[in-house]
Amino acid sequence: MPEMPEIQAHAERLTERFGGRELSGFTPFNFTALKTAVPAPSTAFGHPLLEVQRRGKYLLLRFEPITFVVHLMQGGRLVADEKRSAKPRGGQARFDFEPIERNDGTIDEAALLLTEQGKERRAGVWCVPTDDALTAPPLDKLGPEAADVTADELAALFAANSMRVHGFLRDQRMIAGIGRRLANEVCHRARVSPFANTRKLGADGAASVAAAIHSCVEEGLQFERTRADMSSSKDRPSAMHSRTGEPCPDCGDAVRAVSYSGYTVNYCPTCQTGGKILADNTTSKFLK
Ligand SMILES: [Zn+2]
Repeated sequence: MPEMPEIQAHAERLTERFGGRELSGFTPFNFTALKTAVPAPSTAFGHPLLEVQRRGKYLLLRFEPITFVVHLMQGGRLVADEKRSAKPRGGQARFDFEPIERNDGTIDEAALLLTEQGKERRAGVWCVPTDDALTAPPLDKLGPEAADVTADELAALFAANSMRVHGFLRDQRMIAGIGRRLANEVCHRARVSPFANTRKLGADGAASVAAAIHSCVEEGLQFERTRADMSSSKDRPSAMHSRTGEPCPDCGDAVRAVSYSGYTVNYCPTCQTGGKILADNTTSKFLK
């Protein structure tokens, strides 16, 4: 799933390409694509796209009356659609814009298409009044932005929520924008065990984790901004994530894994757990 750096850089590219264009249509291609009944998407027709913003892992297409909040989930993408075919492959919803003449004299008629690969159909669009966009569902329960959270805020959240730190980092109600890859990278950079308890980490632990969040997010953002489109997870730089068995770039110890259904926690024993190897539950009774 794309995380904050991928979504943020994509929002910036979409603003560059579609900012100022007037919305002329909105077409959901199946009944799960539009998650809200009111306000109607047509409320934004005839209005220019002010900006594509980001909050957590959501994209926000801001118009003056209403904002379209888009969640890509695992396999969703929001892409320029030059063909505008009647039934686009994997299409969930399409935003049509009035054609515009570019500086080079060409006419840009591209729409924006929300696609989702796979059968899950979980990507979707919420329509909300722009003034309430950040405080209405689906954004109302999100924690502070990963890039903005301070060491003090994080220490308060750690004290109030007793969780494994890796799970805390992936919980969007705690911190918004971090997923599986960044959670692995942040724990390694902060030199904490992914299974450390947040309450026990204390203020010093919170300060290390906050600093690691900021530097990992900033590095990801710098990488994504060099790209023409959103990276796939195998392209993204990592020290730990998806590196099971490879040497840790900081100490040379082999990167270890603890696997769950759907994701893997990667860590370096020397850097993070005092050399202790954590039980890999893939060898447990569940597989017998
Ligand atoms: Zn290491």
